[in-house]
Amino acid sequence: MKSSKREKTPKNPTEKTNEDRLVILGSKGGPAIRPGGPSPTSCLLEIAGRTCVIDCGLGVTRGLVEAGVTLKDLDLIFITHMHSDHMLELGPLLHTAWTTGFQTKVTVFGPEDLKDYWDGFLASMRYDIDLRIEDEGRLDLRDLVDIRVIEAGRVIEDGALDLTGGDLRVSALRVDHPPVVDCFALRFEVEDENGNWSVVFGADTAFFPPLAEFSSGADILVHEAMLEHGVDRIVEITGYGERLRQHLMASHTLAPKAAEIAALAKTQHLVLNHLIPADLPGFEEQDWLDACAPQFKGKTTVGFDGLTISRERS
Ligand SMILES: [Zn+2]
Ligand SMILES: [Zn+2]
Repeated sequence: MKSSKREKTPKNPTEKTNEDRLVILGSKGGPAIRPGGPSPTSCLLEIAGRTCVIDCGLGVTRGLVEAGVTLKDLDLIFITHMHSDHMLELGPLLHTAWTTGFQTKVTVFGPEDLKDYWDGFLASMRYDIDLRIEDEGRLDLRDLVDIRVIEAGRVIEDGALDLTGGDLRVSALRVDHPPVVDCFALRFEVEDENGNWSVVFGADTAFFPPLAEFSSGADILVHEAMLEHGVDRIVEITGYGERLRQHLMASHTLAPKAAEIAALAKTQHLVLNHLIPADLPGFEEQDWLDACAPQFKGKTTVGFDGLTISRERS
């Protein structure tokens, strides 16, 4: 059995509560980082006594620590797709957790190609891993990580995987993110003494109406978003021209269309994330809210690194 089920009483109440919560650790779309700016994509979801990390863009390790997660309690990790802004730091996160002292298996769900990444990472770190096993008496990192392939449909059922408690359900939907084929939205649900709570991560996707059905009635929908005049500005700055614009428009979603998905899904709360642009001057929170307001009348929050949304008790 995993020992990582969160304790009822936090060790340090000032650092962490045991309430179910969503924390946006990295809110920007794309792999670049800039001084003082936000990090690429990663999220923390604490639900049904489980600690779930969704995507592992650059900065995820620091983000988790700052959010009060003890790395040796790392539990479940989900990688939505193999773009680097969603998984570049998976290996360093797992290795850092290992050197912090984890001794129980971490399960990582992701596309088929994740296996190659993990094997390659382990090979690249062979010297250090072997040395620490020999010199410090550590367990073998290679035995502590279980990589599992996500397939559209059910990922985790109650009781499957020997999940303690068995209250968590996670399902996956293949979304439209060309040219990537294996890109999965994820729905996390719990039903317990406090009622139901469901959180959907839309991954990277173009406007995709089946995502609305998949997100139906969710308490929170985390959806990627772009601002059209922001795309114009990025195309202008980078000099990549129409090719970049075509890529962005074909595989991502403008904020009003993200709002349309939220309205179709009748979600309670839309969280805009994977923002494009994320850190260009001249683009304010109100621009995002104004872009969504005509389509979606529910609560809308613009993501930022550290944004925390706690489960509301019914
Ligand atoms: Zn991305
Ligand atoms: Zn992507």
